Amino acid sequence: MGNRILTHKISLEALDAQWQRDLKRKLKLKEASFVILQKSLDARKKNQIHWQMQILVHSPEITTEEWKQESRQLLEDRLENFRSAGGAKQEKVLVVGSGPAGLFPALALNRAGYQVTWIERGQPVEERRDSIARFEQTGRFEALGNYATGEGGAGTFSDGKLTSRSKGISREKEFIINRYLKAGAPQEIAWLNHPHLGSDNLFSMTQNLRRELQEAGVDIRFRTTLEDMIIKQGKVQSCIINGQEETYGRVVLAPGHSHYPTYRMLLNRGILFRPKVFALGFRAEHPQSLINLAQWGRESLPGVKAAEYRLTDKSQGTHRVYSFCMCPGGQVVPAAPSEDVNIVNGMSLYRRDGRFANAAVVCSFHPSEYLGPDPDAGAVLSWLEGLERHFKTLTGDFRAPACSIKAFLAQTGSPLPRETSYPLGLKETDLWNQLPAPIIRAIRDGLYSFSSMLRGYEEGILLGLESKSSAPLQLVRGPSGAAEGVENLFITGEGSGWAGGIISSGADGLRNTASLWE
Ligand SMILES: Cc1cc2nc3c(=O)[nH]c(=O)nc-3n(C[C@H](O)[C@H](O)[C@H](O)COP(=O)(O)OP(=O)(O)OC[C@H]3O[C@@H](n4cnc5c(N)ncnc54)[C@H](O)[C@@H]3O)c2cc1C
Repeated sequence: MGNRILTHKISLEALDAQWQRDLKRKLKLKEASFVILQKSLDARKKNQIHWQMQILVHSPEITTEEWKQESRQLLEDRLENFRSAGGAKQEKVLVVGSGPAGLFPALALNRAGYQVTWIERGQPVEERRDSIARFEQTGRFEALGNYATGEGGAGTFSDGKLTSRSKGISREKEFIINRYLKAGAPQEIAWLNHPHLGSDNLFSMTQNLRRELQEAGVDIRFRTTLEDMIIKQGKVQSCIINGQEETYGRVVLAPGHSHYPTYRMLLNRGILFRPKVFALGFRAEHPQSLINLAQWGRESLPGVKAAEYRLTDKSQGTHRVYSFCMCPGGQVVPAAPSEDVNIVNGMSLYRRDGRFANAAVVCSFHPSEYLGPDPDAGAVLSWLEGLERHFKTLTGDFRAPACSIKAFLAQTGSPLPRETSYPLGLKETDLWNQLPAPIIRAIRDGLYSFSSMLRGYEEGILLGLESKSSAPLQLVRGPSGAAEGVENLFITGEGSGWAGGIISSGADGLRNTASLWE
């Protein structure tokens, strides 16, 4: 039995049995089985849109042994290595935050034999789903169950895109994909070029992952907040959790970047963060049919859910403008982590069959441009929070301040379309006056440029504020990966400022704690 890897072009209509038969004929094989290693839609020529696949062919008639470096089999071997890291340990580890940057270290540390306690300030995912549904019906915010808070972390009610721009994380990424597959993710995430899970799959997968950890003996506590830490002689001596003092040998803290009280507690305890480049802007919404037409030249394609886009305005200098976190067939959601701010984000279901497409359009910059050279981390946080609060005052409730892209470009009113996916209503607002002028200028140029790249882009609307595409602060890490000067505190994921997105945050959680379990 031998193997061969090849790339193959497949028509959109082709059924599996068809392309497999064609491939056997082409390779002159009587017997063969196939594993898809990668699949991506090639829509560069609108009249020849097709799937491009990389396929591993097994056959007794093949004499070569070609394996892809990162094949599933090799990954399983690696997982076994993770597991054998060495029997039960007495040491207690606290993992804070149930997003990917807390989940994956909790799994790895549990496998390595540590006694893991895993806490999350929000609700379990079933209650969280109900809280979000109530919020979207009534506009009444629920602090422990919202788009930023609760089991699964920020990305649970999301599009669940599993793409990442982080480099050098292939091993961690494989681990994460494999864990998601075991938790019930669709098989295609193993090979699709742009895989995504959708909120509906994430909901059941989050429950399955919790059960797995519970059965493995992890102590899981919801509505449980790390309120403070007592740090002495370069170590966390104890943690204040829901008013009680508890002691752990190590603390893995994966708080995300939305919960300012956690950031402030860390800054008060002397943990070193430095301001970093981050991005602000809006969320653009369009009819999905308009995006399909622009990308494919027609409103639908057989076997393909909805067209995606990723746009960058390369003409900008220091202020780079780009689209981010596109949700085809999705919904713009009220993603505030607290009652006093107005923030939007995007999500979609696995089917991606909603009538709208949305994506952030953001401009990156360094906070020193607005706060003077070398600004203090706390000042950056207050500045950002001030803007998020300002967007709440624009409507007084959780309606989203919004305007049409045409109005934004012309800087004068033009009526909003009546239809939107945003559940709590829009309030027509002069968004071009609501962020610092250089950011607005750059976004305006970016919108012109996007309109020339994607036909009809200027027909969309903008909703504000989009402030969570990345963290404004970055943790100063020591050589072991622990927070500088605190040898047993590992701050991971988006809140550390070293990662962003589901895969990259999960990978950062694994890498940053690897010295404990590998
Ligand atoms: C609506 C939405 C859609 C998104 N879509 C995508 C997408 O499609 N693809 C993608 O890659 N990324 C997406 N993201 C971003 C992605 O979710 C985040 O990058 C990722 O979840 C970060 O993981 P994390 O574990 O670092 O933090 P988080 O997921 O933010 O988790 C942090 C958790 O810690 C808890 N916490 C904070 N402080 C404390 C404390 N003191 N005590 C106890 N618990 C605490 C919080 O309640 C939270 O649940 C989306 C985000 C949102 C909000």
